[in-house]
This record gives sequence, C-alpha cells and structure tokens, in this order.
Amino acid sequence: MTTSRQMVIELGLDYLRDVGSDQLCNICIANGGSCCKGCRNLSFKSGCRVRNTSCTAWLCGFLRYFLYEVDLLEEWYSFWKQVPGRDYREDYTPDYFEFQKTLVKRDLRFLSHELAEDLRILSENYPEQGYMFVLRERIDSNLDLLFDGENPDKRAIIKSNLGALSSEFYRFHKALETYRQQLEKGIEEYTSSKWE
Ligand code: SF4
Ligand code: SF4
Repeated sequence: MTTSRQMVIELGLDYLRDVGSDQLCNICIANGGSCCKGCRNLSFKSGCRVRNTSCTAWLCGFLRYFLYEVDLLEEWYSFWKQVPGRDYREDYTPDYFEFQKTLVKRDLRFLSHELAEDLRILSENYPEQGYMFVLRERIDSNLDLLFDGENPDKRAIIKSNLGALSSEFYRFHKALETYRQQLEKGIEEYTSSKWE
C-alpha cells in the first residue's frame, strides 16, 4: 500500500502519546535533558516547528528502555525501517512511498506514569547536574550493545547492567510485573477458550 510522510509522522506521534512518552519527557526536560536543545527548529513558544520522520522515529535511552521492557521495541523498529530518507533532525522522506506494516496503538500511560514517577524521585534524590543525562546515556549504550547483534555471548552481562541501571525504578518494575502477569493470563484464557 502507499502511505504519506505526514501519515507516518502522525502515526508515530499518536503511538508515542498513547504509550505516554510525554510523561517521561516532562521529567527529563525539567531536569535539563531535552534532546531538542540547540536545534534550529525549536521554537520557545510552540516546540518543534518542523516535525520530521527522523526525530519521530528516534528514541532516547529512557523511551527505548520503556519500549524494550514492554516488548514493543522490535515492532517500533520494523515500522520505521520501512520509512526512507531519515537523517539527523531533518528528513528526505518522499511525500508518498510504499509501505507494508502499520503500528498498533496501545494505551500504556499507566505504566509510563510509574517510570516517570521513578525518574522524578531520582531527580530529587540525586540533584547533581547531569545525573539524569548520564543515566539515560548509560541505558542507551547498553541497549545499543544488546541490539547490535555482535555480542551474543555478552547478552547476560548487558542485561545485568540494565538491571543495575534500572534498579531504582521501583514503581515501574512493580507495575510492569502486574502488567506482564495480566498479559500472560489473558493469553492463557484466550488459548484455553479456543480448545473448549
Ligand atoms: S531525551 Fe528522551 S525523555 Fe528527554 S525529552 Fe528527549 S525524548 Fe523526551
Ligand atoms: S527537529 Fe527534532 S530536534 Fe529539532 S526541535 Fe524538532 S523534534 Fe526537536
């Protein structure tokens, strides 16, 4: 099927809104970590003036970690792989192009709310400048290592690093456990009802 550049930007933004990315961004920005800092497209009053496919697809360490934990990261990547012409803070994506997979939106704001609360508490507990930035970058580089496919024998170490870096995300881990249990129960109920 054919889709438009504008359509994929809107799909991506809607998807992120539904998973609750803004709740994480609010804490990050309040702590000086905005990823738009210094961009010529940033307007003081209205935020980004030139939405593009590149920035919509891009995930920082916190957002990437969130999608990784809820098992949606692969889906996000495979959606954006179809979109040509992405670059740094701008794009060369054609107005229309061929496209196969869409994104299925999920309301996960209740989960990202818990992670945002953890980040808020951390920012109060560790007020030194740069703490949140360093945490975000460390999570990000471990996720890079996990997904670059060149470290299969180091996966356990990388996962344990991620566990250590996220060890103070108490509220998020608790909510995530409940969410996973509910998901599993839903799948079990669905599977058994198929065989009845
Ligand atoms: S770095 Fe991540 S959490 Fe911070 S403003 Fe950018 S997208 Fe949001
Ligand atoms: S182009 Fe990207 S980095 Fe620049 S303001 Fe827009 S979203 Fe932020």
